[in-house]
Amino acid sequence: MVNCMFYLEKRDGIARIGKLKYKNIVFETPYLINYLDEPSIARELDFGRAATATKYVIPEYLYEDLKSKSDEINLVTGLSTLSPHQVVDIFNQIERNKPIYAVGVADPLNLPILIYMGVDIVDNILAIKKAYDGIYFLGELELDVGELEKLPCSCKYCRNSSTKDFTENELFEVVARHNTEMLLLEIEKCKRLIEREELRNYVESKIKFQPILTSTLRLLDKGECSYFQRFKKSKCIFSAIESFSRFEVKYFLRRTLEVYEPKTRLLLILPCTAKKPYLTSRTHRIIRSRVWINVNEIIVSSPLVVPREFELLYPAINYDTPVTGDWTDEEIRFVSKWLRKFVEKGDFEKVVAHVSGGYRKVIEFGLRDYEVVFTCEDGILSDSSLNKLKKEIEGYERYDLYEEMFKHMSRYQFGIEFEGQVRGKYPNLDLFNGGRVARSDLRYGMLDVYEIAARELLSNRLYWVQIGEFEPKNKIFASGVINADEKIRPNDLVIFYSSTIMGVGLAVMSGKEMVESEKGVAVRVKRKWPV
Ligand SMILES: [Zn+2]
Repeated sequence: MVNCMFYLEKRDGIARIGKLKYKNIVFETPYLINYLDEPSIARELDFGRAATATKYVIPEYLYEDLKSKSDEINLVTGLSTLSPHQVVDIFNQIERNKPIYAVGVADPLNLPILIYMGVDIVDNILAIKKAYDGIYFLGELELDVGELEKLPCSCKYCRNSSTKDFTENELFEVVARHNTEMLLLEIEKCKRLIEREELRNYVESKIKFQPILTSTLRLLDKGECSYFQRFKKSKCIFSAIESFSRFEVKYFLRRTLEVYEPKTRLLLILPCTAKKPYLTSRTHRIIRSRVWINVNEIIVSSPLVVPREFELLYPAINYDTPVTGDWTDEEIRFVSKWLRKFVEKGDFEKVVAHVSGGYRKVIEFGLRDYEVVFTCEDGILSDSSLNKLKKEIEGYERYDLYEEMFKHMSRYQFGIEFEGQVRGKYPNLDLFNGGRVARSDLRYGMLDVYEIAARELLSNRLYWVQIGEFEPKNKIFASGVINADEKIRPNDLVIFYSSTIMGVGLAVMSGKEMVESEKGVAVRVKRKWPV
């Protein structure tokens, strides 16, 4: 029976917003099945005779026989009995082309990470159970109802009433309904965060309330998945140690190192700035106004290390990290290791570092066997420091930074380079070659491309999406996709084409999903022209 259809609308990593059509009813996901009312979907589901969690305790043949046979919705039962390793194991193996329902496990603390792992449906079973155990949810806190004189919430069930206004049974019912409201509120928050592509920042803060959730995220980060975006419109907040292992950081460092081609014999190392891109910051502007910089530069931050050529790319263009001047040993080790790898890619005969404090420690540790000239004496912008810097680096060589930026960005994003001349005012740069080839898209931290580059990408079979014979409007649905490049991740810039039309769009799904899904938005169209 085909009762159930799932339409993907928006991805943020593995997390997603979608529409679930079950028989004739449409639910927005992430969705909560409310067992206090008529749980319409649940009635029809095959929960199996053994919980998913039993696969770790009973023989495999028995589990296969007893497990849920639901083929339209993936049911995951008994999660709360499992270790973080087992939970991550289940989610690493789960089929993601069907909606995922995590049964009887959601509470306000674990909901964000459940949704982050790709759960589309939860319920209020645990919230009801806790209510009957006398537990009242207040945001992240669990309060003992027996100790409350007044209910500290003004929702339509609590209305700040005195607990004495209710009989014992009425009170349990009120608390169960209130607890459900708290879950709904959390789902609503996660939905907004997915739309804004900011769920990860929130998850990193929520997992801190329970070590078991922290372990789950750390284990989850060891895996990788084609749903994570390389480019995003949101700010990366790096304020936890878990921020170091998020996909954005791992991908950026790995990919920049892969395509980095420093050219000059002298390397200048500078500290990061709060304002992004760095080159628009007051500090970097003052340094440049006083010293003629015409060499390769690397900017040291935490956890990022950013050769100047990549500073317009996500997440370098849009992140925030707490700065106190003190660096932890962990930060020093992590950042200095990456700094060294970047320096080793060059053929530098001289390294000049215009940094102080913790930054200097990172360089001294990472480049301990290099001869580094430190030019910062009494503050990075002082006359004597800037004069020393000037003396060390001026007149070394010529380097066309903007041209190199385009080359590095296009290698990073597509694996090829485009020919052309750079125009525009930094950071809004364009590449021209007879017509417009590409421009820096500051919102997503990527290159946006036009017809010339699109044709070149298509002839190289890069980031292509083959569509049916129709003229796409704003969206291309998965049903209209015939085939697509497997490399495509959500938010990648893609080139779609049929025999009569081609154009540029933003992927909503991964390439594999576009081909495998029957429903949902695959690509948002940016521009198009006849073939
Ligand atoms: Zn309430």
